Amino acid sequence: MAKFVYTFGNGIAEGDSSQTNLLGGKGANLAEMSKLGLPVPPGFTITTDFCNEYFKNGGTYPESVVAEVEKALKEVEEIMDLKYGDPDAPLLVSCRSGARQSMPGMMETVLNVGLCPATIPGLIKKTGNEWFVYDAYRRLIMMYSDVVMEKAEEVEPTDGQEIRIKLENIMEDLKLDKGYESETELTVDDLSFLCEEFKKVILETFGTPFPDDPKEQLWGSIGAVFKSWHGKKANSYRKIEGIPDEWGTACTVMSMVFGNMGDTSATGVAFTRNPATGEDKFYGEWLVNAQGEDVVAGYRTPNPLNDDTKNDQNKHLSSLQQMMPKVYEELYDVRNKLEQHYKDMLDIEFTIQEEKLFMLQCRVGKRTGAAALNMAIEMLDNNLIDEKTCATRLKPAQLDELLHPIVNPEAEEKTDPVAKGLPAGPGGAIGRIVFTAEDAVKWYKEGKEVVLVREETNPEDVEGMRAANAILTAKGGMTSHAALVARGWGKCCIVGASMLEINTQAKELKIGGKVYKEGDTFTLNGTRGLVYEGSLDMLDATENPNFKRYMSIVDKFRTMGVRSNAETPKDAKTSLDHGAEGIGLFRTEHMFYGEDAEQPLFLLRKMILSSTEDERRMALDELAPYVKRDIKATMEVMNGLPVTIRLLDPPLHEFIPHGKEKQEEVAKALGIDVSEVIRRGEGLQESNPMMGHRGFRLGVTYPEITEMQIKGILEAAAEMTREGKNPKPEIMVPVTCDAKELVLARKITDKVYNLVKESYGLDNIDFLFGTMIEIPRAALLAHEMAEVTDFFSFGTNDLTQMTYGFSRDDSDVFMGPYLDYEIIDSDPFQTLDQKGVGQLITYGVERGRQVKKDLKVGICGEHGGDPASVEYCFEKGFDYVSCSAFRLPIARLAAAQAAIKAEKNK
Ligand code: ADP
Ligand code: MG
Ligand code: MG
Repeated sequence: MAKFVYTFGNGIAEGDSSQTNLLGGKGANLAEMSKLGLPVPPGFTITTDFCNEYFKNGGTYPESVVAEVEKALKEVEEIMDLKYGDPDAPLLVSCRSGARQSMPGMMETVLNVGLCPATIPGLIKKTGNEWFVYDAYRRLIMMYSDVVMEKAEEVEPTDGQEIRIKLENIMEDLKLDKGYESETELTVDDLSFLCEEFKKVILETFGTPFPDDPKEQLWGSIGAVFKSWHGKKANSYRKIEGIPDEWGTACTVMSMVFGNMGDTSATGVAFTRNPATGEDKFYGEWLVNAQGEDVVAGYRTPNPLNDDTKNDQNKHLSSLQQMMPKVYEELYDVRNKLEQHYKDMLDIEFTIQEEKLFMLQCRVGKRTGAAALNMAIEMLDNNLIDEKTCATRLKPAQLDELLHPIVNPEAEEKTDPVAKGLPAGPGGAIGRIVFTAEDAVKWYKEGKEVVLVREETNPEDVEGMRAANAILTAKGGMTSHAALVARGWGKCCIVGASMLEINTQAKELKIGGKVYKEGDTFTLNGTRGLVYEGSLDMLDATENPNFKRYMSIVDKFRTMGVRSNAETPKDAKTSLDHGAEGIGLFRTEHMFYGEDAEQPLFLLRKMILSSTEDERRMALDELAPYVKRDIKATMEVMNGLPVTIRLLDPPLHEFIPHGKEKQEEVAKALGIDVSEVIRRGEGLQESNPMMGHRGFRLGVTYPEITEMQIKGILEAAAEMTREGKNPKPEIMVPVTCDAKELVLARKITDKVYNLVKESYGLDNIDFLFGTMIEIPRAALLAHEMAEVTDFFSFGTNDLTQMTYGFSRDDSDVFMGPYLDYEIIDSDPFQTLDQKGVGQLITYGVERGRQVKKDLKVGICGEHGGDPASVEYCFEKGFDYVSCSAFRLPIARLAAAQAAIKAEKNK
């Protein structure tokens, strides 16, 4: 039998932080901290491998595992000088879940396991603290009944009938009766009364008594931890985050330490730096006389860790730095040690038992995109990390978040916020308010932008949080559930806006005297924690000077080129600002849609509706100057850089006039009747236009169109050359399926080339000639296509459409169910399908380069800006990816990180 149990404690450990796959993040880092000599209570971790075994074996434990657990428990007992289940010196443990990747609040943990009538007197004698013992017991009963007896058994109570809520209500009623504000005011008698009441309700609810046998408690808790991997919350979170089911959770069993032993005990959570801004300041929250999740749960407003953590909501509360300066100093020391060791910002959990500090968890902390950027630069400047590490510190998605809009400060200046809370998630957002996660999802599906307003969020709300543009809560601190989840996603979020009076039932919200109803619009500034009524102006957030510097570091490691999809001088300039090294897709048809398109479109219509070649040529001659002008204007901005110009792509009927006025205009120009215009237009209708008369097929039927376009391109280049500029046009033929099409296109090109060269008196005009690969047949015949071209550009939108047979325009109808049934993992139009479409790409690149070693290969289309697809293109040896200007930084980062990864794996 494989080894399933790994111990830690007393300055040694069997695992370390590199083993998160096996031990889960929590177990691996507890082992690492233990090895670092930090004060970690001893314990052991049952591996994620065993989690899979456990489910395979129908939730049972093989004898060998029981023996391993017993042996490990004995080691803990020896270190602690206590014994599990012993009446005189009882050891209590916690059973904690932990996956390879943190899933905040999605799985379960049980504390104070091993406490029961048999061990209570011994613990009271040992600690001399009866209150604490009964407080721990009532917590155990509450957690155990919820996690082990209800959730793990898949009992699904109706709303409000959950055991956790039933027990909490009993406690609340008692507090109300006695006039207590906080549960710390409960007396020993109250607590022991509560425990008995709890047990009665548990028996009534489940038909089984609360188990007062330590052995049963231990194995029950371990099993519940494993089962929580397949809990409802965890399943839905995994789906959103794309975490595979096979990973499993580990279960860490460790000796309890107690933050609820009175005024010199406490519990807290902290970040080694500010996770919202990245500032190099220790940042956290704590509560005196409290245990475990009290800080995150939001029942009591947590105290600030230090001066740097003080804000409007907690500044009246004392900090740990003030209350226990010595322990604070010790914790500060731990913070520095951990940062030096991990060379990153960490998120830590600690407990203070009678002024003694214990570390209970550490992990690399989630942060906003802005914080990730600022930290990476600061750590680089402090020589904590090198440039390469720096370049890996932002995920492409975080860059996306950085490029998101912020509320225009000028607009904010002029507007008074209606509410204020803690700045938990970055950036600005506008949306209509809704009050439940279900409504958020519903409205989102209807295409509406929403702000989810909740008292506080819990893991059941994640799908609604995902659907919302922003999250706003009345309760909770910077480490509350809403804050953690939103920050992880880079979503705008404000928590603890205590002036909100939310009435979920009535779907309304009161602030001061004013009532807001579901559907009212709010603007949130998540970076400052300000809420405004109505919608405010928004701005682009790239002005951070660290951003430009970061991108220049990133580019040092990037080997693959990046280009943009652009067809106007303005977009070309934006592309250059965002780091484009060329244009990978200039869509010639854009000149008929965009600004100043009136005249060219009119001429194009005239051409399309012509009935003879002569008529057509006349219209084309009129159109030609516009084509040359537009192409030249963009090539001038890109002077010295390649510009790939795609010949006309869409089917002609897309340009046909439908309005009466426009129809008359064309009719007049052609000297025909309007009814004839309509008739000719109808003649162009196709029942399957995506596979119809489009792309180079137009060039085969109307070679004069291709001729005019190529002439425009080469004349633009010739003019620039004569003006001493450096044009680099690349002529790209779209929608091809056979090399013979390219031979034809090349023939037209050569003819035009000679004419233009002569008329401009030039010896030579530099250009490349290539094709899109977007039809499966073209990929399969890549070796033939390569013979007659200089480059391939994979048009993965069409290639995906035709490989799947999924219409790009109609697939939304069934894409949802296909994802739900897991027939596909993700929308192939967003993330390249490596398994299927990828084969055509691989084949195309390999075959093409066999014939032509230096064949240039690129990609254009949506996938060029998708990080996973960019990485794939890198692996396949692409020369460049091309995407829209605003996704360029993401493509640059993804390409650099792919190169760093490849070098590491070499
Ligand atoms: P989560 O993954 O949801 O954060 P944890 O396993 O970290 O769950 O446990 C929840 C809380 O219980 C933590 O805040 C931690 O501080 C506390 N806790 C866990 N184990 C112990 C222990 N052995 N002694 C004291 N507190 C503990
Ligand atoms: Mg934790
Ligand atoms: Mg296409």
